[in-house]
Amino acid sequence: MREKTSEDRASGLATLACKAATCTSCRLSKGRTNVVFGMGVYNAELMIIGEGPGQREDEQGLPFVGRSGKLLDQLLAEIGLRREENVYIANVVKCRPPRNRDPRDDEIESCKSYLIGQLELINPKVVLTLGNFSSKLLLRTTIGITKLRGHAYPWWNRRLVPTFHPAAALRGSAQILDGMRYDFSLVRSVIEGTLEEDIPESAVLEESSVTESQGLDAEQMGLW
Ligand code: SF4
Repeated sequence: MREKTSEDRASGLATLACKAATCTSCRLSKGRTNVVFGMGVYNAELMIIGEGPGQREDEQGLPFVGRSGKLLDQLLAEIGLRREENVYIANVVKCRPPRNRDPRDDEIESCKSYLIGQLELINPKVVLTLGNFSSKLLLRTTIGITKLRGHAYPWWNRRLVPTFHPAAALRGSAQILDGMRYDFSLVRSVIEGTLEEDIPESAVLEESSVTESQGLDAEQMGLW
């Protein structure tokens, strides 16, 4: 199959964003102000995935704004990245769940074609999941983020680095922020091709977890 050109990727993302803008495939469409499709560049080496839009994101139509967004931008800057230049940020669901509850299974199912489309078009080297929800969902595990983080897992022919949600660092101890800094340094290592660590046996995921041999194409609907 022909490799996707830059134009294919940029126009593919624009088409997907247009489709999402009027999407009513799940109940979350009823309470939204804006669809928060995602932001960043189509050729990003890093794709960041959160859970779903919060109140400010819903109001502004952009992911990770406010204090959490500022901390995220700061951590990105510390590893030489900027969301406008070399990062793409999206959420598992594109519309705000009421009272910031977790997205439900049927909502995730209805929305997943958008995230899969984003992953296919952007084709990032590394995915960074922010917080318990998206980390556990994408790694198909019940292991919590505190135990899960600190590693760059093989994931659909790339690496996935799970880390805390920036809001947890704002609420919590300096240890959480230190942990995030370490995880962001793993992201940097993946991008630079200098990642040394392999997954230690103590961090082995559940049987259903994806392995390096799987590809993100025909089997995409089994992504999570
Ligand atoms: S959350 Fe996703 S599937 Fe549900 S209405 Fe919004 S864009 Fe559509």
